[in-house]
Amino acid sequence: MVLSPPRIEAVTAPSRSADRSDTDTDTDTDTAETVDERRPLVDLFRDLRTSRSGLSTREAARRQVVYGPNTLTRRAARRWPQELLGQFTQPLAVLLALAAVLAWFGGTPALAVAVVAVILLNAGFAFVQEMQAERAVEALAAFLPPRARVIRDGVRSEVAARDLVPGDVLVVAEGDRVCADARVIDGTLTLDLSALTGESLPVTRSAEPADGATSLLEAGDLVFSGTTCTGGEASTVVTRTGMHTELGRIAALSQRGPAQRSPLERQVRRATWIIALVAVVVGVLFLPVGVWAGLGWAAAISFSIGLIVANVPEGLLPTITLALAAGVRELAGRGAVVKRLSAVETLGSTTVICTDKTGTLTENRMRVTQLWLPGAEYDTTTTVDDARARGLAAAAAACTTAQAQSSTQPAGSGDPTELALLRLADELKVAVTPAARDAAVRAVFHFDTHLKRMSTVTDQAGALVVCTKGALETVLPCCTQVLDPQGPQLLDDTFRGELQRTLDRYAARGLRVLAVATRTLEPARGAPADRQQAESGLTLLGLVAMVDPPRDGVAAAVTDAHRAGIRIHVITGDYGPTAGEIARQVGIGHDGRRIIAGDELDRLTDATLDTILTGNDEIIFARVSPEAKLRICEALRAQGETVAMTGDGVNDAPALRHADIGVAMGRSGTDVAREAATMVLTDDNFATIVTAVDAGRRVFANVRKFVLYIFAHAVPEVVPFLIFAVSGGAIPLPLTVLQILAIDLGTETLPALALGREPAEPGLMDRAPRPRTAGVIDRALLIRAWLLLGGVSALLVMGGYLFTLWRAGWHPGDPTGVGTALHHAYLQATTITFAGIVACQIGTAFAARTDRASLFTVGLLTNRFLLWGIAFELVFTAAVIYAPPLQDIFGTAALSAAQLAVIAPFPIIVWGADEVIRWLRRNRHHVAVRGT
Ligand code: ADP
Ligand code: MG
Repeated sequence: MVLSPPRIEAVTAPSRSADRSDTDTDTDTDTAETVDERRPLVDLFRDLRTSRSGLSTREAARRQVVYGPNTLTRRAARRWPQELLGQFTQPLAVLLALAAVLAWFGGTPALAVAVVAVILLNAGFAFVQEMQAERAVEALAAFLPPRARVIRDGVRSEVAARDLVPGDVLVVAEGDRVCADARVIDGTLTLDLSALTGESLPVTRSAEPADGATSLLEAGDLVFSGTTCTGGEASTVVTRTGMHTELGRIAALSQRGPAQRSPLERQVRRATWIIALVAVVVGVLFLPVGVWAGLGWAAAISFSIGLIVANVPEGLLPTITLALAAGVRELAGRGAVVKRLSAVETLGSTTVICTDKTGTLTENRMRVTQLWLPGAEYDTTTTVDDARARGLAAAAAACTTAQAQSSTQPAGSGDPTELALLRLADELKVAVTPAARDAAVRAVFHFDTHLKRMSTVTDQAGALVVCTKGALETVLPCCTQVLDPQGPQLLDDTFRGELQRTLDRYAARGLRVLAVATRTLEPARGAPADRQQAESGLTLLGLVAMVDPPRDGVAAAVTDAHRAGIRIHVITGDYGPTAGEIARQVGIGHDGRRIIAGDELDRLTDATLDTILTGNDEIIFARVSPEAKLRICEALRAQGETVAMTGDGVNDAPALRHADIGVAMGRSGTDVAREAATMVLTDDNFATIVTAVDAGRRVFANVRKFVLYIFAHAVPEVVPFLIFAVSGGAIPLPLTVLQILAIDLGTETLPALALGREPAEPGLMDRAPRPRTAGVIDRALLIRAWLLLGGVSALLVMGGYLFTLWRAGWHPGDPTGVGTALHHAYLQATTITFAGIVACQIGTAFAARTDRASLFTVGLLTNRFLLWGIAFELVFTAAVIYAPPLQDIFGTAALSAAQLAVIAPFPIIVWGADEVIRWLRRNRHHVAVRGT
């Protein structure tokens, strides 16, 4: 990346801004922005008027006025006139425009005007719908406000990332997304710069880099907003925020890329094209037939244009986008922030959920309940008075980095496991304050998801002490002794056996168990050189066991998922039997549960893993490494499963990206995981995943509903033309072109939109998941739309038309043109066709509301949007029939009460026919199920 010259030349500017008094509230941020981050640290601190202990809260607030919030504003925001114009260059709009031009020169200006009206209305609708969809997605950002760890008033605290100002001391640790440009002042970390450079190899950044960098982005001591920390931990001082960061510069320059189309949208786009093509072919074929049947060329052309315009489903795509966006918005309100519209659709076809245990199935609010020491065991919910127990608790608490409860953070912050240990120390009267702990610590070997243990080296009254805690099987190999009431003893097989039995006893109760060990270093030897040296020759103090009960509602969600044909596997770093017990408590694996530990998994061949996964068991993968997660995900996907997978750490990111739906946690978990995920749970709750699947299925089902509705009207519109043509003109045209357009335009849109808002029909979550390959438009849908609903409608409408003519004394072949005796009757008959199609579409709308269930189970009047849509449809139709100016345009005539009575039952007949077929299908299904 090339730096722009002003950046480098602006070196003199900072001292000017630094000289300003604190009360200077000049908001001219262009002069306030520039600080040379490459100056020696002392100078940088002076320029930024800050120090290693950070800013005061008041000073930060003052600077916020000067520098503005630390947010990116998209300068290249979309300009809506362009967007709106874009609607007119859509291929379908162009096709319609062509038709309008043809109509104009073909001598039917009224038709041309009508087609232009169709284009305008459609573009307007599509524009509004797409804007709404976009706004829904943009509003999601508010559900996941980024946070930053800073040192303010000398203590570590968490603030909203938007409140960061230059001069803040920002702590960046593994898994964080860096939220400002900053210079490292302490510590070392690895950084993924790909957001800025596209280069995905991580780079190292530290306070004392090996220098030689030529550009800002290469500088070994700088970190940048938008990049992510993949390892280590460092303190940094913020140099630039908001639009002044490197990321801000890019954001200001770049326009947003085109939105990705979902498979659903692609599929519908394809279907739209096929139908448009069919419409054009039918329209063009009608030309010679129409002329042969006695129409003049001009009339024939206008009819083919009418056929084409009526059958091109131009409003379908925006309606689908809007339905997906409505799904996204609703999900966000229920705790699941989905990042792509298409994810809503994928969610609905989920077949397997791979979930974490801790925090997702359980509350992640841990409390130590048991202590085991060689030769003693305590229930810590009662008072414990034992020097060894106190030693154990103190050592466990020394081996933490979490911030315990304080006045500013009543809940504490950090790993809940560690918070439980700090609380235990408190209860055993050996309280460790985080401040004292941090002052004494000499080295931290962070919790590692592979090693599954953590160690600290602390200065305790002059002596260096190593404290280690972690999974028993990984701590034990580091130990040579145990602390028995008589003092340190050699760790022998008797102890090992007893430890294992204790571990299993606790695990059987679903407790999470940690082993704790220490070693006091000989003063002469000094601090250990590396992790391996530190974690050796330890003395095991004992075990702590903590409860982490299942969340409320998880058991119910598991039952729902099972009913919906979804399998649930648990993937956890915890001990197998512990995870197995929690799984049992929430009902996972109720007909077949199997525990596979990480080392066993590593030994399995791909073929064996496949066989295990295709079986009926739900599997607890325990002590799993993040790489194994990816392997499980790939194996499942290779079998055609649609996989939703949760994850929280940096190393989980690949699995989250590979899963069909990567799920990250909004509260716990890292920014890296949140970025890799497709869906973020703001409440971290497993039950929300199931809710999201439910919503995904509903959105998909609703899309099918309005596709069905929109497709159904084609048949009653086309059949009248066919009859006219086939009869060679003996039966006069039952429908005028403008009447077709009136149906297409005025009466269809609102009910279709309303169908997108249908509540879920009962039984939607009792079915097996939809296969990923199943399209939204399938044969069953086409048969129902064209044969059943469309066919019945066409029969009724043609019946009504012919009946009206016949009542007026018409016989096939009689002239009905202007000036003939039958002309008024003919106008009334076409009006019957028009009103009849509207009536049938009302019936279709009610039929389309359910796919399998009876409409009575959801309630006739439960979709208020639909009722309003139909009310509008009726008013519009009445106007076309009874308002004299509209009568002239549309060629309609007022209908008598008796004639209205003919079409009044149409809706009920159409809906009733569909209701009967659905009933038959349900019964056949029941019989089939009972038969097997
Ligand atoms: P999960 O989140 O699936 O429960 P983790 O990867 O967090 O699993 O933990 C796996 C194991 O690592 C735990 O069973 C415990 O023994 C150990 N462990 C977890 N957290 C810590 C920690 N902060 N320090 C040391 N060991 C830990
Ligand atoms: Mg964990």
